[in-house]
This record gives sequence, structure tokens and C-alpha cells, in this order.
Amino acid sequence: MPNADPILRVAIPSPLYRSFDYLPPADRATPGTVGARVLVPFGRTQKVGVVLETASSSELPPERLKRAVTVIDREPLLPPDLMRLGRWLADYYKQPVGEAFAALFPTLLRQGQAATVRGEPMWRLTEAGRRTRPETIKGASRQAQLLAVLHQQPKGVTQAQLGSTHSGWRAPLDALARKGLAVREYKPCLPEGPLASPGPAPEPTDEQARAIGTLRERLKGFNVTLVEGVTGSGKTEVYLALMEKALGAGRQVLMLVPEIGLTPQLIERVQKRLGRPIAVLHSALTDRERLCAWSAAREGQIEIVLGTRSAVFTPLARPGLLLVDEEHDGSYKQQDGLRYHARDVAVLRASQLDIPIVLGSATPSLETLRNVETGRYGRVVLSERATGASMPRLGLLDVRHQRLEAGLSGPLLTHIDDHLQRGGQVLLFLNRRGYSPVLLCHDCGGTAHCPRCDALMTFHRGSETLRCHHCGGERPLPSRCPDCGGGELVAVGQGTERLEEALTERFGVNTVVRIDRDTTRRKGALEQQLDRARSGQARILIGTQMLAKGHDFPGITLVGIVDADSGLFAVDLRATEHLAQQIVQVIGRAGRAERPGEALIQTHLPDHPLLRTLLNEGYDGFARDALIERREAGMPPFASQALFRAEAVKRGAPEAFLEAARAVLQTHAATNVSIIGPIPAPMERRAGRYRHQLILHTDSRRELHETLTRSVPLIAELRESRSVRWSLDVDPMELY
Ligand code: ADP
Ligand code: ZN
Repeated sequence: MPNADPILRVAIPSPLYRSFDYLPPADRATPGTVGARVLVPFGRTQKVGVVLETASSSELPPERLKRAVTVIDREPLLPPDLMRLGRWLADYYKQPVGEAFAALFPTLLRQGQAATVRGEPMWRLTEAGRRTRPETIKGASRQAQLLAVLHQQPKGVTQAQLGSTHSGWRAPLDALARKGLAVREYKPCLPEGPLASPGPAPEPTDEQARAIGTLRERLKGFNVTLVEGVTGSGKTEVYLALMEKALGAGRQVLMLVPEIGLTPQLIERVQKRLGRPIAVLHSALTDRERLCAWSAAREGQIEIVLGTRSAVFTPLARPGLLLVDEEHDGSYKQQDGLRYHARDVAVLRASQLDIPIVLGSATPSLETLRNVETGRYGRVVLSERATGASMPRLGLLDVRHQRLEAGLSGPLLTHIDDHLQRGGQVLLFLNRRGYSPVLLCHDCGGTAHCPRCDALMTFHRGSETLRCHHCGGERPLPSRCPDCGGGELVAVGQGTERLEEALTERFGVNTVVRIDRDTTRRKGALEQQLDRARSGQARILIGTQMLAKGHDFPGITLVGIVDADSGLFAVDLRATEHLAQQIVQVIGRAGRAERPGEALIQTHLPDHPLLRTLLNEGYDGFARDALIERREAGMPPFASQALFRAEAVKRGAPEAFLEAARAVLQTHAATNVSIIGPIPAPMERRAGRYRHQLILHTDSRRELHETLTRSVPLIAELRESRSVRWSLDVDPMELY
């Protein structure tokens, strides 16, 4: 039945796979438009939603339609391209539309705050306040105290800081404001001041010049280009040249980098070279800072946005170019909630915006290489280092029959000696923190299991604890075996802590620096450790994957991969791809300056095809073989997958839910979709919960999506779903 009021069709974050209809607020001053947020009654609470469309009629009878409480935005907050993106996210990742739209917003907007380019609220002294000594305020000790605080901080104190140190600050500060002694203002949230003039660019190498030429040609309309360049080949310089051109045309640029790659060095490099302020978006920002950057980009006040995964959703007033650096990096995949892949979303966004996108990597993902193979993506190659340095020589060290000292073979130790003596630095890569992965009782052979996971606990010597790396559980190191009372507990295997101990013993205390999550937890610790490494004070760097990318250590001449073998036995489809990428990335840390580098991989499997191919033909050879293997096995990127995960404290509940889900899927599955499972997750119990999974596999992406579109809303309403936590992962990167 037609209604005089337009109907607002609203996306509201909730587990329900639908939108909700409302009438505009009674006042009618702001009727609500597509892309604006509205506050609406929802169950017993109120929620912030986005208007998806306005309609003339609803399926609900008029008397059941509720009115929105308020329209928050007079104008659409989301531009049309993000409206389309939100719908695409919901449809592709099979999430409730409200959840997909919520992902587009910074927290404060999700909570209904205004979208302004304003920084943190803060307080500072007025001129009168500066001249007033705190002790002259009589009979109001709180005011005197806060006045003293402001005296100590002439530039002002944010409300967030005040809140953490002085509870109840508001009333006394309001009183000081009324007396004209203090004012509240907003901290500037964008980089300020006159812009530096753009810095000089190095003369491009022939390869760079060719790449820049090709890419500049392609700087109009939608197209995807892979920049495949060995570490140190000057990819970043190529991006900068391209960004310059886009900015020169008055366009905005959005560049995504992996979490670990967003270093102060990179930010400074981009800023200096382009001479313009950048908005940097990463997980450590305050909600207010994030909102500010988001709004500034939306209004076109800032031209360069540099950010990690979720920055892919930043609105752009004048979009011109998207870049995804290290496109193979795992941190682009969101691992909970809306499980999107930021690289894939970036490509889709570029196509919706009809602008070019550049993906860069020294070790491209097989998905991207496949797209190059089929001609959907273009490619430019940088095969040599820009500085003229040569790529490190790669060798395998067969450690069979060798005596190992904390996992290090004699020949590797000799090489370390050599390089140190010639003034080089050494990087040892071991992707396992702690002292040893196993603590074994010499009397009964018992091991320390995590009580909450199907996993052994790692021995951490420094803190004298046993820790579970899967659930974070921790307990003090027992002095005796809890099973038999035996007093001799043996540390089996090595982690970075043990490596550090052995190398310190051999080379001296100040020679070694260990960089892993345990040594860098404290704020500022990572920078401190990196400084010790870069300054050359530390001669030997030990690190986990934290060291494998994003950081430059010009003095390193030898990279040692302590243990490649554990990766070779992994069951996961993508494990070998990750191992190859990791090895090549770590090796790329060597010999970045004038000195030639060397890289050595210790292995018990010197004839393993993966290692042989990497050695003889590099990453390209590996990728070529891996794509053939994937094609023959009918695995991604030659097939599409979706993964249902379910977990519960109660054993059996996840399996029961997935059985029920399977029944729904079977009824609705298209012909070419196979359903595998339910099967237990590779680690069946984790953090006290039992876990099962169900995999959909097909060579027809279209059929996969048809199946899911029909089934997921029904699965969400299964009775069995109430006893579990479950999720759906479309294009999963890990099958557990
Ligand atoms: P990538 O991003 O491929 O690892 P970078 O752009 O960081 O490479 O360049 C690696 C190093 O080479 C940097 O120190 C950079 O300053 C330098 N470099 C890049 N291009 C040139 C060039 N054309 N001439 C001289 N040095 C260059
Ligand atoms: Zn655990």
C-alpha cells in the first residue's frame, strides 16, 4: 500500500540477512537520503544504520513501521561507489548487509558521531590562565590541581589523557573555563604547516624507466598491473613516480601496505619525495585520528592516503590511483567478522571507480600470477637491484649427520665467523619464538600440554614459563615433572631465545640482537632494537617473520635460514607458497648495499623439489611449478572454495551444526559444488573450544556463490547454530 512518507530501507548491523524498513523521523526537516546514517529503534535498543534506498512502499503494513529517531547526516556520508562496495561485500562474502556496511566506517561513525575533520578534544591555558599560579585558587583544590597540570603542558592535554590520569576532571575544568583560565579546543588532526617542496628522485634505472613509462601510459581507466621486482629493485621509486603523475593531475592516491611494512621510514620517504601531507591509517590510531583521516580523504582535503588493510575502505573525493604493496602478504586478509581480502577488494574498488591499480611484490601470490597468465592483469618486471648491488648467492647446507649446536651446523657457524670478520652483519631467521617448542621429562617422556588446546606448550626460559602460542595460556615452569616427579626436564628443539643464548655465548653479549614478539612488546622497544641493528652495534640479528620484510639493513651480508624443514611438512595448501615467499623475502635482506650477499638454508632435505627449484630458478621457477601442481590438483586459483568454521565448548555441537548446514547446502547446491566434511579442524581443540569445519569446493565461482546465496540465510537460522560460534570464509587463505 503506498504511503505518503517515503520508506527508508536501512542496513543495520545485526546477524540477520536483510535490511529493515523505517519511516522518516516525525520532524521531517531531514527526510534521510541514500548513503546517510540514521538512528533507529531496534528491538529494545537503538542502532545506527545506513539508508540503502528510499522506497514508496514496504512489505510491512504501515501500522507496523516504526519511525527513525533521527537522521544523522543531512547529506549522504557514503559516496555512491562505497554504497556499491558495501552491497558487493555483503553479497560476495555472504555477510548480513548491515555488517558489511558497518565495516566501511571508522568506529566513531559507527557509533553515530558527526563526520568532521576535527582532532581530539583537548584543554589548554588561556593567557590569563598562564599568569595565574595554581596556589592562588583558594577553596577549590581540584581546580588548582588541574591548573597545575595544564601549566606543565603548555601545548595542552587531550581529554583522553586527562581521563586516564585524573578522574572527575570535567567539572573543575569547566569551572576554570568559566573563569576564563582554560579553553577547550580541538587538536589539529592533519599534518600541518607549509608543505615541503618535493624532494629529488634518483635517476631511474633503465628497467625503472621502462616500468614507469608503461605504467604512466596505463594511468587512465580501470586496469591492473603487477609490478614484479626483486627486493631492492626500486619498486617503491616506481610507485612514487606514478603517484606524482596522478597527484599532478589533481587526483588522490590510496596506497595499501602490509601491517609490518608501514614503517616511519616509508612514511617519511613518501612525504619527502612527494612534498605533500599524507593521511596514515593503521591499527594504532585513536578512533578520533582515524575518523579525521577518513573525513579528510572524503572531503578531498588530503591527497595521499597510506594505510593497512582496512584503509581500502577510505572514501576518496577525487580517486586517481590505487596501489597495493607486497600484494602477497597475509595481513591483507581479515581473519574475523567480514573476512575480506584487501587486495581483492582494492581491485574491485578500482574497477568500480574506473581507475588503475598497481600490485607490487617480489613474490607475487599464485592468484595474481594466474591473472597475469590469463591476460587479465598486465605485468612489468624489475629483475635487478636499483643500486647496482647484486642479488645474494643462495646455497643449501645439508645438515644430515652434522652436529648441531642450538640448531646451528658447523658450516653455518664458520660462515658466520667469516662474514663477521670481514665486517659484515648476519641475519638468522627462525620463525619460532621462545626457548624450545618441547619440554620433555627425561624419566617418563612426558611433555607439557596446554590444558585448553591440542598443542604442546613452548618453554620460555627468560620468563621461566610455559606458554601456549595458540591460546596465550601461561604457567610457571615446573621444577619437576608433574606426571612422575622426575627432576630432569629436557628442552627439545630451538626457538629464537635459545639461538640467542648460544650465539651470545659464542660471540659476546652486545653482538646479538633478537627481534621477535617477545622482545618488542614494550612500546618503543622495536625501534630501539632496529636501531641497534641498523647502527651496526649488533652484528648478529636473530628474528622471526617480523624481520623478514619491511625493514632494510644495509650492513647484512649473510642471511641464514636456520630451519626450512618444518615448513616442508605442513599440510596446508598454501604452506609451501608461504614458505617460498618467506625464504625469498628473508634472503632479500642480504647484500642490499655495496657488499655482495650470501644466503644459506639449513635443511635435512637438500633434494626437496621446492628447495631445488628455488635454488636453481628462483621464485619464478617455484611459482611456475606450483601453478602447474595446483592446476593438476584442481586447487585455487583453479578452483574456488568457501569454508564454514564452527566451535563450541561442548564437544559434538560444532559437528551437529555443520551436519545441519550440510543438509541445507545439499538441498540447494549447484551441480558442480562438492561439500567436504564436517571434519575436525587440524587442531581440534583450541582455547577450550572444539572446532569443526566444512569445505565447499568447485571450479565454478558462479555456482559456489549461487549455492551460498540460497543457503547461508537458512543456515544462519538453524536451531543448531545457537549452540556454536560459526563463521563463513569465502576464499579462505588458511584451511583451519
Ligand atoms: P623495493 O621497494 O623494490 O624493495 P626500493 O624502492 O626501496 O626497492 O629501493 C631499494 C633501494 O634502492 C633504496 O635504498 C632506494 O633508495 C634505492 N634506489 C631505488 N631506485 C634507485 C635509483 N634509480 N638509483 C639509485 N638508487 C635507487
Ligand atoms: Zn593453549
